[in-house]
Amino acid sequence: MKLTVVYDNEAKGDLQSSWGFSCFIETGAKKILFDTGWDGHLLLRNMDKLSISSESIDILVLSHQHWDHIGGVPALLDANQDMDIYVPSAFSANLRNDISSRCRSLNEIKGPQQICKGVYTTGQLGREIKEQSLVLDSGKGLYVIVGCSHPGLAAILDAASAFGDVIGIIGGLHDSQEYDLLSGMQVIGAGHCTVHKANIREMYPDAFVEIFAGYSREI
Ligand SMILES: [Zn+2]
Ligand SMILES: [Zn+2]
Repeated sequence: MKLTVVYDNEAKGDLQSSWGFSCFIETGAKKILFDTGWDGHLLLRNMDKLSISSESIDILVLSHQHWDHIGGVPALLDANQDMDIYVPSAFSANLRNDISSRCRSLNEIKGPQQICKGVYTTGQLGREIKEQSLVLDSGKGLYVIVGCSHPGLAAILDAASAFGDVIGIIGGLHDSQEYDLLSGMQVIGAGHCTVHKANIREMYPDAFVEIFAGYSREI
């Protein structure tokens, strides 16, 4: 599997940074986009510069209903209506109706489930803000891709662990201070909205990796 961050608060090279997160995942069989950032044109421009075709995306997974994660959806749907889309069932009815009329299938996620071979969702977690995270089976352990981590790392990692051993996490960790839960991980890619990047880097200097639009990694 290969993952490429296409949208983040930081960017390198000729890519643009912007508040939000989006990660492109190639499993061999499927091409998946996790979240879309808030500016769809910036998302498509960054993807273009990374030679990622929006038409090639089979599956779109949206973590939660915040604009910095779903704002790019309309522009993406203009480019590709042939996607299976997975959203937390807590998404508003209006949003679900709009999306479902413009895609191959809309799947409303409640509990944990498989999305395709080697790819799982934690199910929607959290109380006020319902959010799902993606779990990727690298064959050597699991990587968790997170949007903002609003439900808290404890709930997310607990749900992800049902599928196996978690060895990596990539995405926004928001203001989580549950750093001890990251111990033993091989890759900690704290990006997007992570408030306490410096603390996490200090605690886990070997596992910490800098996340930015353009970051990619084979897992
Ligand atoms: Zn959020
Ligand atoms: Zn966010």
